[in-house]
Amino acid sequence: MADGSAAALVKTTCPYCGVGCGVSGAVGQAPSSDGRALSVAGDAAHPANLGRLCSKGTALGATVGLQGRLLEPTVNGKAASWADATALVAKRFRDTIARHGPDSVAFYVSGQILTEDYYVANKLMKGFIGSGNIDTNSRLCMASAVAAHKQAFGADLVPGCYEDLDLADLVVFSGHNAAWTHPVLFRRMEAAKARGQKHVVIDPRRTDTAEGADLHLAIAPQSDVRLWNGLLAHLIRIDAVDRDYIAAHVNGFDAVEATLAELDQSPAAVAADCDVALDDLLSFYKLFADNPKTVSLFSMGANQSAQGTAKGLSILNVHLATGRIGKPGSCPFSITGQPNAMGGRETGGMANTLAGHMDFAPADRDRVARFWGAPDTARAPGLKAVDMFEAIHAGKIKAVWVMATNPAVSLPDAGRVREALDRCPFVVVSDCVETDTTAFADVKLPALAWGEKDGTVTNSERRISRQRALFPAPGQARADWRIVADVAKAMGFDGFGWSSQASVFREWARLTAYENTGDETGRVLNLAGLSTLTPETYDQLLPIQWPVRADGRGTPRLFTDGRFQTPDGRARMVPVRPKGPADAMDAAYPLSLNTGRIRDQWHTMTRTGLAPDLCRHAPEPFVEVHPADAEALGVQDGALARVITVRGEAVALAKVTERQRPGGLFMPMHWTDAFAPSGRSNHLIAPNLDPTSGQPEFKHTPARLRPYRET
Ligand code: SF4
Repeated sequence: MADGSAAALVKTTCPYCGVGCGVSGAVGQAPSSDGRALSVAGDAAHPANLGRLCSKGTALGATVGLQGRLLEPTVNGKAASWADATALVAKRFRDTIARHGPDSVAFYVSGQILTEDYYVANKLMKGFIGSGNIDTNSRLCMASAVAAHKQAFGADLVPGCYEDLDLADLVVFSGHNAAWTHPVLFRRMEAAKARGQKHVVIDPRRTDTAEGADLHLAIAPQSDVRLWNGLLAHLIRIDAVDRDYIAAHVNGFDAVEATLAELDQSPAAVAADCDVALDDLLSFYKLFADNPKTVSLFSMGANQSAQGTAKGLSILNVHLATGRIGKPGSCPFSITGQPNAMGGRETGGMANTLAGHMDFAPADRDRVARFWGAPDTARAPGLKAVDMFEAIHAGKIKAVWVMATNPAVSLPDAGRVREALDRCPFVVVSDCVETDTTAFADVKLPALAWGEKDGTVTNSERRISRQRALFPAPGQARADWRIVADVAKAMGFDGFGWSSQASVFREWARLTAYENTGDETGRVLNLAGLSTLTPETYDQLLPIQWPVRADGRGTPRLFTDGRFQTPDGRARMVPVRPKGPADAMDAAYPLSLNTGRIRDQWHTMTRTGLAPDLCRHAPEPFVEVHPADAEALGVQDGALARVITVRGEAVALAKVTERQRPGGLFMPMHWTDAFAPSGRSNHLIAPNLDPTSGQPEFKHTPARLRPYRET
């Protein structure tokens, strides 16, 4: 500080990825016209990062300015008071429901909002409006892992913890470029690698994660299930499965074994189908067989597929058959993309679940309804993200509220999403910034941004951490939970009268303490030890992993006793068969387009696009292509190229690289109308879905590539 006094340190949590790093922030004297200066450092006491931050976290101070912020409510483009905007939203939702029923409205929310926000939005839609139509953009990143967990474990439970990544002798990265998408965790594993840990990467692309690995299996796209099934067949063949563990804790082994027998599981056949060298496949098999302390990480590359659930199950099957779960250094581990994807999963932010990992089974639904005093609580799941926007397009949903997300860029077939928003009779967007989606809003509601919000998030290892405010609310911006609660009250509903985020959290925690809902089944998602937090103890809450039982202690690892959350307490192995992508390539579209993230940008760049250091890493949209394809097509490295699918065209710089498999293309998904409209990629993607999870197949759309100007 200029006056020599030390700035107060505020401990909060990074708003970007699912690692959930602790951040120490100090507000300084403002050099800029918007009056904000912030220095950040990693919180050495936070167990997720132990003081480390990646490039995105380090640049947080450059992203807290007020450029592009929504600072006042608007109705039809004109400034409005909160009272008028709230009353209008309440009236239009109430009138729509009265005329067309509760399923004629929807909320589309985000892994950026806090657990308290999720809880309140879910309570309004599922509890009081009485529709399941609330879904989250987390549907795009980890819904397939959720579906696999539910089938195998009986609930959406992540068994392991980050410490397992330190303790493992072998880490398998399946469709997970951790070096770019979860950099702080990757640094942790690099340190373990220096101590002898082995790394195997399963990914069609030679990513930075693959670059330093002991073994990279650049499998043919969509051959993951074939590979993992082949591994399981091999382990059975050499008697390296744990038959005692299976007998005591697992159902379904025989059915899975019978399914494996439908195909030739010889290493030669598996290697041929996965298009990897036989020696490499055998090396993977040997590493897996020789190292009982194995963590198998899986992320978007596995999940974003029309068979994402099957891919997850094929990984879980191997771990269950070998008993590599619930033990230090040994587990399957789905890593989430967003800072609070887990919080949304917990509180019912997904259309197919109720709060507290309860389903729509009558007993579950009645427990939640009783707890909320909401007799109209939804009785059936709502529409998942892509189907929700299709229903808007078809006129079945007539009012939608989008919270803190930008579906006009991020959903597949984003052009159709824009058409849907354009057609929708009433669109509300609450966000901290103007986005491509706010352009379609009848009502815009200004929400708090990171650095102003106050509440909790849950990271990929089930660890609940506090996000704390560093700055006062700018303009008229408000907390998301409060915006929703005010609309709920204006709609005439009781039960939304909280005075603070602490009181919202306490209610949420009480819902999971099942004595409050009459549930004696002993579910794992239990926050009983947090259900009596006072505003002071909530404010001081240290990072803690759920379940947090009544004595206040957290739980690093699940299933240590071999009991799962199924009716008989046994895990389930589920037979899965390899399948190709939803859309096959043809002569017109002979390449497979894959969209994803890059190291230094986040989602649609609303924050990271403000940081010069982050923009330098990849300043323009690009498309990666293998040299053989580039030569055949006349595309030159560093020149502009057109990427074309049946849904449209994008223009991007060609990066000719052997990191890309022949026949494949990769484009980042970050660029927007504001930064580079011609480089938007997800509007090219087919809206093909995993039939169980509803997760889109961002990793494959048939495409062709052309030089920008053909000679
Ligand atoms: Fe933030 Fe993730 Fe980087 Fe940690 S690893 S600083 S949570 S973006």
